[in-house]
Amino acid sequence: MTNNKYKILLVEDDENIRTVITAMLEASDYQVVIAETCALAKMLFSSHQPDLVLLDLGLPDADGMRFLETIRQNSLTPVIVLSARTAEQDKVRALDAGANDYVTKPFGAAELLARIRSTLRTCRHCADAGKLPSGKFRLRDLTIDYDARRVFVQEREIKLTQTEYNIIALLSEHCGKMMTYSAMIQSIWGYPSEGSVKKLQVNMANIRKKLGITPGDVRYITNELGVGYRMNGERDE
Ligand code: CA
Repeated sequence: MTNNKYKILLVEDDENIRTVITAMLEASDYQVVIAETCALAKMLFSSHQPDLVLLDLGLPDADGMRFLETIRQNSLTPVIVLSARTAEQDKVRALDAGANDYVTKPFGAAELLARIRSTLRTCRHCADAGKLPSGKFRLRDLTIDYDARRVFVQEREIKLTQTEYNIIALLSEHCGKMMTYSAMIQSIWGYPSEGSVKKLQVNMANIRKKLGITPGDVRYITNELGVGYRMNGERDE
């Protein structure tokens, strides 16, 4: 099963650990993006928009905490800290800075995989809790299966990241209504920040591309510049 593969950003400078974790994640069907430094991690985080980050704290160019603090300014993407540091103080600091979990090295493969699964599950449930309708949404040849979190155009599955899925699900829930950038940002990421609108626009551009929407085409989604987005049409029950 390779449906909607989760993408994990692994930030780790130790080559041996990196190799072991990468092999383990790929064997479990995760897609892995690798960064050896804090600077590269920040870059890859914005370009790849991973579903989860595994973060080593002792990095050559900066403390991994810097990365965590930076991304938490405008992202709720789950982060599991991997570190040799065992002091409570370090764990509290990482969790206070927004880490979702903390795994101390050395750790077993089974333990790490279990933590990843549980973190992804928790975050998904938080995002879903009482908000998304169940069943299916249909708009012409576009179908959203809310239970499976899958999107189809003419029966062909469109592979979306979790964030892209959350955006299109949100728009479909409010089909026909203009959703302002800030309302969408609030709902998708929980809180606004300086880069949020840009991030929303980048995600939306990816969604349009994946749905095969060319500029000017308003088949599914309209963008009102400076205001927000709207999914067009009435939903069929
Ligand atoms: Ca390290």
